[in-house]
Amino acid sequence: MQVTVVGSGDAFGTGGRFSTCLHVTTGAGSSILLDCGAGSMTAINRAGIDRNAIQAILFTHFHGDHFGGLPSFMLDALFNVRRRAPLLIAGPKRVAEWARAAMEAAFPGSSGNAYPFEVTYLEVSPDMPAEIAGIGVTAFPMVHDPRAGPCLGYRLAADGKVFAYGGDSAWTDALVPLAAGADALLLECYTYDIPLKNHLDWKTLESHLPDLAAKRIVLTHMGPQMLANREKATLECAEDGMVIVP
Ligand SMILES: [Zn+2]
Ligand SMILES: [Zn+2]
Repeated sequence: MQVTVVGSGDAFGTGGRFSTCLHVTTGAGSSILLDCGAGSMTAINRAGIDRNAIQAILFTHFHGDHFGGLPSFMLDALFNVRRRAPLLIAGPKRVAEWARAAMEAAFPGSSGNAYPFEVTYLEVSPDMPAEIAGIGVTAFPMVHDPRAGPCLGYRLAADGKVFAYGGDSAWTDALVPLAAGADALLLECYTYDIPLKNHLDWKTLESHLPDLAAKRIVLTHMGPQMLANREKATLECAEDGMVIVP
């Protein structure tokens, strides 16, 4: 399994980073996106990722910096790369409704597009492990913004490895089982020492590090204060284009 951090930014382009998008591939040929935020198509093109090979997009929640790239992905599939392969769009409950609303908001009328490829939707929830493009997916409830969710974190299992990703979340004890035994864990760290009710700060995360039994932890989704203090963190920080091999 290989995870390319296509976008490691926050919701505001801080530090010139692209918004959240991860490209996950496996030895068996799986290719999925984990989140696809606004502007991700630019990052995906820059990274040279084969868009037609992407079998599924799995969303953690429905904020624009994680979800807003979907309309451009769909129109690119229709008009540019002339996709024919089936596409699975997965995420928290009501993902199909959210997708239609995003299409309509971004490109009015486009929610009625007919695609020359099969589009299916899958609702993922913590009580229902799923398999997405051959990758085992287990969801965990995160604490972020219920208006854009339910917000989820995921453990992805493939090639005998586990990659865990928290999406956006304040500290929650659900991060403990999310991290347990993972070969790599990608966690948001939005501020350095400003506690927020919907995001993690480094000081809070640092106090919980003994609880997170992942072999490797990488920070992402850094806002201005965290980026300015990143050298004080004892964990690696993601960059756009970083490749993580769990
Ligand atoms: Zn969010
Ligand atoms: Zn975010």
